[in-house]
Amino acid sequence: MATGNEHKKRELKAILRHEGLEILTPENIGRELPAVVEDGQTFAENAAKKAVLTAAASGCICLADDSGLRVEALKGKPGVYSARFAGEKATDDDNNAKLLELMRDFHGDRRKAEFVCVIAVSTPDGIVKTVQGVCPGRINDKPLGSNGFGYDPLFIPSGYGRTFAQLSETEKNLISHRAQALKKVYCLLKGFGLV
Ligand code: IMP
Repeated sequence: MATGNEHKKRELKAILRHEGLEILTPENIGRELPAVVEDGQTFAENAAKKAVLTAAASGCICLADDSGLRVEALKGKPGVYSARFAGEKATDDDNNAKLLELMRDFHGDRRKAEFVCVIAVSTPDGIVKTVQGVCPGRINDKPLGSNGFGYDPLFIPSGYGRTFAQLSETEKNLISHRAQALKKVYCLLKGFGLV
């Protein structure tokens, strides 16, 4: 799994755990892996680039996750810039504060949003496929809860009265964009003869 994001690693490992797979992350490979610049215009481009370069360098079948939040009334922002919405060195709190400020006068349907996760799976020789998971919801008017990461304290998934950061890890992992993408990954891994 080509990620250095501890939260993503934890969620990905927890969600795929039941399938009896062993997920390795760059520090388990014992080999220098390339730092990948995420300069694509779409989640799919970024995920595929990370997966292909890491699979080639590691010699392993590689999964990469590129994900983020899309707010319809902001024309899909923060989108692929979710991690650095408030600047290159922005913290989660900075990004959440910027989003809340931009949406200060948005009410009702204008607070609709969705989390998107694209996972790419690549073989070392560059055969790559991508799958996507989407979780619809809305942006709360203030941060609530302390679980998860990123925009979790602001995001209320459809059908729930609590933010992702107020749900337990198990609850989030049942409905999240990442969980939905990973269900489809399982089918891809079957195609690669891995499960
Ligand atoms: P990436 O590492 O370029 O894929 O950036 C992902 C960014 O999107 C994270 O830094 C978060 O800001 C946001 N994000 C993606 N998935 C989640 C999630 O499950 N919860 C909260 N924020 C997320």
